[in-house]
Amino acid sequence: TPGLYIVATPIGNLGDITLRAIEVLRGCDAVACEDTRVTGKLLKHLGISKPLWRYDDHSEHRDRTKLVDAARTRAVALVSDAGTPMISDPGYRLVNDCRAEGIPVTALPGACAAITGLALSGLPNDRFLFAGFLPSKDKARREMLEELASIDTTLVFYETAPRLAKSLAAIEEVLPYRDVAVARELTKLHEELRRGLPAGLIAYYEANPPRGEIVLLVGPPPEELASEEDADALLVEALRTLKPSQAAAQ
Ligand code: SAM
Repeated sequence: TPGLYIVATPIGNLGDITLRAIEVLRGCDAVACEDTRVTGKLLKHLGISKPLWRYDDHSEHRDRTKLVDAARTRAVALVSDAGTPMISDPGYRLVNDCRAEGIPVTALPGACAAITGLALSGLPNDRFLFAGFLPSKDKARREMLEELASIDTTLVFYETAPRLAKSLAAIEEVLPYRDVAVARELTKLHEELRRGLPAGLIAYYEANPPRGEIVLLVGPPPEELASEEDADALLVEALRTLKPSQAAAQ
């Protein structure tokens, strides 16, 4: 049936496409995508051949109107290079325009690097804040981290390998005692999750320059002590659990 179908695609492992995504891609009339080569490869792998229309949020109004018009009478699938469209990827203007025109829009869930990284990290996830990419300029990056410092949830960022060192350095400067996780190459052969204080991660990635795609996560601020009594109780507990040899040294 006509309309816009937002279709999530894999973030690495091609097995992570859903049955429904394949069905929609097979049944649609055209696929709007960021990069026709990237999506062409995915469709070829699935044995599907469709007209591919390049689309991003910078596309001319004219191109978007063409897509909206098409979705009025035909089934148009929207995909991005990888993962869920719109999550730090294009599509939002197109969805908005379709909605404004009363064209049916539906979204097929699937892979998303932010969610996969959060799940793998083991960081608190009852609440989290997805903050997209950190700014590339030093000052803006620091300011954004300062702005996020008081937020009491895990922070999730998209990151690139060449910029990881700078981001970790800024986190070390602004949020030095946070539990940080680097989720790299999710769902791929060299998937890796490293967790620790910023200083430790900086040292590790200096010795082992990272490659590939990265989700960077910052755990919530350490719990504040409610009162001095709490602090005393914690201290007593810490001393009690020290080994006798350590305690003797105090
Ligand atoms: N819309 C996509 C999604 O749902 O995951 C994200 C697109 S965004 C332009 C690309 C960023 O996603 C990368 O720079 C990286 O931070 C993250 N990413 C994508 N695939 C990844 C993977 N396999 N492992 C780790 N991070 C990944």
